[in-house]
Amino acid sequence: MSDLSAFSLAGKRILVTGANTGIGQGISVSVASAGGHVIGVGRSSMEDTAAMISAAGGKFSAVPCDLADHKAAKSMLDDVWAEAPVDGLVNNAGIIRRADSIDLSEADWDDVMDVNLKSLFFLSQAFGNNVFGTPGRHGKIVNIASMLSFQGGIRVASYTASKHGVLGLTRLLACEWAEKGINVNAVAPGYINTNNTEALRADPDRSAAILARIPAGRWGEPDDIGNAVAFLLAPASDYMHGATIPVDGGWLAR
Ligand code: NAP
Repeated sequence: MSDLSAFSLAGKRILVTGANTGIGQGISVSVASAGGHVIGVGRSSMEDTAAMISAAGGKFSAVPCDLADHKAAKSMLDDVWAEAPVDGLVNNAGIIRRADSIDLSEADWDDVMDVNLKSLFFLSQAFGNNVFGTPGRHGKIVNIASMLSFQGGIRVASYTASKHGVLGLTRLLACEWAEKGINVNAVAPGYINTNNTEALRADPDRSAAILARIPAGRWGEPDDIGNAVAFLLAPASDYMHGATIPVDGGWLAR
């Protein structure tokens, strides 16, 4: 009989950004199923996620915060830590803006960089300061990257730049923090059935072309990503640092 305790998150407090919907909701449910107490952070009501987790007997707390406000985000993390230390941070919240590069506005550049990259870095910094300031503590950070951390994409210049940045920061923070006790890794989702990809699914030609390239023959679901994130938060992945794992139905293997 195998020992599955290395995959347990029992007793761990895990902060998940963007927990109200989509991939963040899938991550929250997977973390709670593995025994973790999920602290969901976001700007919209997280009632649906709370109900799903409570129905399964898990633990969830909601903390309101607009992550585009970096000072507010740092205070939020410090306040959550002051209640009790946090074991893991999942930087999931993200936005996308679609336009031909010739037309992309400065606002569509700045808004995406602010949430997808700057907020991820400074929340990680706030988490690092708390972990390193508390003797004997360790922590895990899991960033949500993208296929567009590896590929160019089309009509999503700021998103692609931000997600290449997520891959780079995952490696950089891992190099700086591995020996100090924080594992930093990322999951790169393929095409997942969420609000973020609604425009692609609404375009029959794009949708069919995407599906035809996925070896698994289906779009991904939020819990496909959630389960991989739960692994990167658990002791089973203690020797992993700086990895960005594709969870993409085989998209990149094609
Ligand atoms: P989604 O359904 O649009 O969810 C995005 C989440 O981010 C929502 O919870 C959203 O909150 C939150 N968020 C955005 N801006 C925020 C802010 N300023 N403050 C607080 N929360 C904010 O998209 P998703 O597909 O689940 O995306 C989750 C992550 O996966 C993103 O980083 C995305 O880039 C990445 N990803 C998605 C796919 C895919 O195929 N879906 C593929 C690769 C990577 P609101 O609901 O309040 O806006």
